[in-house]
Amino acid sequence: MKIVVLSGGTGTPKLLIGFKKVVEETSLGIIVNTAEDVWVSGNKVCPDIDSVIYALSGEIDTKKWWGIRDDSFLTNTWLKSLGYEEPLMIGDKDRATHILRSEMLRKGLSLTETTKILAKTYGVTASILPMTEHEVATMISTPEGVMHFQEFWVGRKGEPEVIDVFIRGIEGAEPTEEVIRAIETCDAVVIGPSNPVTSIGPILSLKGVKELLKEKLVVAVSPFLGDKPFSGPAGKFMTAKGFEPSSRGILEYYKDIINWLVLDHSDTLLKGITVSDNYRKIRVVKTNTVMKSRENSIRLAEFIVNLFDEDV
Ligand code: GDP
Repeated sequence: MKIVVLSGGTGTPKLLIGFKKVVEETSLGIIVNTAEDVWVSGNKVCPDIDSVIYALSGEIDTKKWWGIRDDSFLTNTWLKSLGYEEPLMIGDKDRATHILRSEMLRKGLSLTETTKILAKTYGVTASILPMTEHEVATMISTPEGVMHFQEFWVGRKGEPEVIDVFIRGIEGAEPTEEVIRAIETCDAVVIGPSNPVTSIGPILSLKGVKELLKEKLVVAVSPFLGDKPFSGPAGKFMTAKGFEPSSRGILEYYKDIINWLVLDHSDTLLKGITVSDNYRKIRVVKTNTVMKSRENSIRLAEFIVNLFDEDV
């Protein structure tokens, strides 16, 4: 079974660790958000692509869910002592990934090509596909002005009030051919438990992607437990976009494209929901969606594959 997963950089990589055990890794196509990418100290950092590569290669730091485990920060701290503070904390090994990527980009390779090479170098056999080759950036509108997602989340620790979220450059941005082919030829699509506005939203906003998904079996896993996200700023962003910051809001956000919504079994928000004519025939199903261990991730991936098996 060929499965395509739409991914950001925290919730979905946790789930991918499970998928790797449940299906053939080579049958996985992972379409990854690039709207949080940023150049730092001369190198291109693709936080979500890196986290997917590190999760699948077993290198990810599972305490922070970004970067490489047991990494050192010598360059980052030495730069600070020289009077230059980097906008992101970058580990030394992690930086090596960014240097390799940037050297390839400077030689004229595309982001898709560099990602393929990096994934292979890390021993990953799933296809990791950047969503687009176009430059797009998630911008956060706050009372203090408009700032890049990384400045908001890392620099300002997510504290400013969020007035709006928009993806700069998304008009006219197209998915890559590899992304289109992956969706067209897969048996099912998983929207991972990632931030709907800043991680999945950019992928869905690319020209033609929603239309392609409407032809597929699609399951979304909620990144919310009731009215609280498991982590991160998803609640603030959903509110800014006019959605309820909850599992109910997730159902509304994805209503045009999903066939199933997976919620945690302790989530009572959608109890007794009537899925009206406004919705596709969406089944709300429940299981344990908290991924605190590898076993949790494997069980959730099995649950999702069983949904598809029942339907096919
Ligand atoms: P980002 O790119 O770092 O913002 O990461 P993502 O968008 O991929 O992931 C962030 C989302 O993952 C947050 O909205 C969390 O609520 C969600 N998340 C994190 N851990 C878990 C988990 O164990 N289970 C579920 N269901 N969602 C999670």
